[in-house]
Amino acid sequence: MKHLAKKRFGQNFLTDQAVIQSLVDAISPQPDDLMVEIGPGLGALTQPLLTKMNALHVVEIDRDIIAWMQNTYAASKVHIHHSDVLKFDFTTIGERIRVVGNLPYNISSPILFHLLDNVAGIIDMHFMLQKEVVERMVASPSTAAYGRLSVMLQYHLHMEYLITVPPEAFNPAPKVESAFVRCVPREHLPFVAQDTALFAKVVMAAFGQRRKTLRNTLKGLLDDAGFAQLEIDSQLRAENLSVAQFVAIANFLA
Ligand code: SAM
Repeated sequence: MKHLAKKRFGQNFLTDQAVIQSLVDAISPQPDDLMVEIGPGLGALTQPLLTKMNALHVVEIDRDIIAWMQNTYAASKVHIHHSDVLKFDFTTIGERIRVVGNLPYNISSPILFHLLDNVAGIIDMHFMLQKEVVERMVASPSTAAYGRLSVMLQYHLHMEYLITVPPEAFNPAPKVESAFVRCVPREHLPFVAQDTALFAKVVMAAFGQRRKTLRNTLKGLLDDAGFAQLEIDSQLRAENLSVAQFVAIANFLA
């Protein structure tokens, strides 16, 4: 199909067949998997996935692409959901789903947070994202890339940086390098926040001004006695705390 890539929808289509094959190998689709692809575009991943699967769900916002897909794929093979992924209710697909996608980079963090709301029903997720975002997702404490995204995702997910992908693998080529990541929801959380909203609030406050000490960023939430009881140095910054320590603070406050 003749299709002009739309910048507002973050359309950078994968064209490198060797890269596409390595992504599909990493996903390892099985015939009966209940799989959802976010942003199928012109089918760069959809097509090779379908050769190994009985059927696939896709969520796409672009009406031109939807029309093309309806003409291209049998309705029994590709279940098309014309929707903004940020408004899409993944529980409508089923209870144990796999999620894949070369995501629109402009809304990648909101998509990840939206999926966290449905994490209980997800088996695994494989995403192409901006390399810098994947580095933040998997970052360890006390590194420059470690931040709110790392803590919030690592709380729920085990993540693996899989493949670095150069701009030339796409058309049009994005300005940045990309990376493919695997995310698997933790079956048993190693540290359980009693109040996940409070946990999120603490993490947000601590990283709100990441150059400031915890004593400053958590003022009003945690006093010196609290820091002492938790055995956390209030002169540290958010980037120095492990996920376990953020959970400990939230549970202390709860
Ligand atoms: N999967 C294709 C590929 O790899 O060539 C296309 C990937 S492209 C980076 C992102 C895709 O997500 C596009 O098809 C775009 O239209 C779609 N998209 C963008 N924003 C979306 C949204 N809010 N909800 C659903 N799909 C969206």
